[in-house]
Amino acid sequence: MQLTGFGGQVSGYSEIRHQMADEIGYDEIVRMLRGASTEIRDNHEMLSKLDSVGGDGDHGTTMVRAMAHLEKAVDASGSQDLKSLLYDVGWAILGVDGGATGPLLGTFFMAMSDAAAGVDALDSLGLAAIFEAGMAGVRSQTKAQVGDKTMIDALVPAVDSMRKAADGGVGVVDVLRCGAEGAAEGAASTKDLQARFGRARNIKEKSIGTQDPGATSVSLIFKGFWKGASSHA
Ligand code: ADP
Ligand code: MG
Repeated sequence: MQLTGFGGQVSGYSEIRHQMADEIGYDEIVRMLRGASTEIRDNHEMLSKLDSVGGDGDHGTTMVRAMAHLEKAVDASGSQDLKSLLYDVGWAILGVDGGATGPLLGTFFMAMSDAAAGVDALDSLGLAAIFEAGMAGVRSQTKAQVGDKTMIDALVPAVDSMRKAADGGVGVVDVLRCGAEGAAEGAASTKDLQARFGRARNIKEKSIGTQDPGATSVSLIFKGFWKGASSHA
């Protein structure tokens, strides 16, 4: 059956269905959050090893605790409301003591929650927008900029890549893939940088040559988001 009126070129139901399904909702966000947790758990030893070079070697264990809080919040979240889910996750992570990343990561989800008010499902542009809100929240909590060898070096290119992908008209899973790629590239770029924030700042040029643990965590989280969202497809 030929249908017109959807941009004039829609050829049938299957294409319409594809367009309508290209959104993520509550269940996919849950899968993304669990995906992030899995990536961190699987790599926590590497994260602590990176942190033992210029920091106190606790980054992996701090992140595992943060992810345990995240999972508990996801499990306890009774409603199907995106805003409450992200709020609960952010609040739970803010409650993780020790480590600079807990407050920053918690703020990320809290700021996403604010942007999710009244939202049930996100298309590519909505997804980019909610991540931009999360990033703005993090950036309001730290003066660190791109190039200072922190988690910001992974977060900013991740969200920028998502925005470019969304503006380019790709689907939600591809937007998340671009986020994961941007984060990985950003995290890799920290290897050659000298730390200007956090504990690693104290070892000055000796921090050059080791990837930043916080940026590495962010790249794992974005990889987990992508894997989690694609897992059922
Ligand atoms: P701590 O250094 O308190 O032990 P973690 O080991 O959990 O905290 O995390 C270290 C990571 O936190 C660093 O690799 C860096 O990415 C990030 N970080 C530390 N301080 C800041 C800051 N002021 N702004 C942004 N990120 C920071
Ligand atoms: Mg540490």
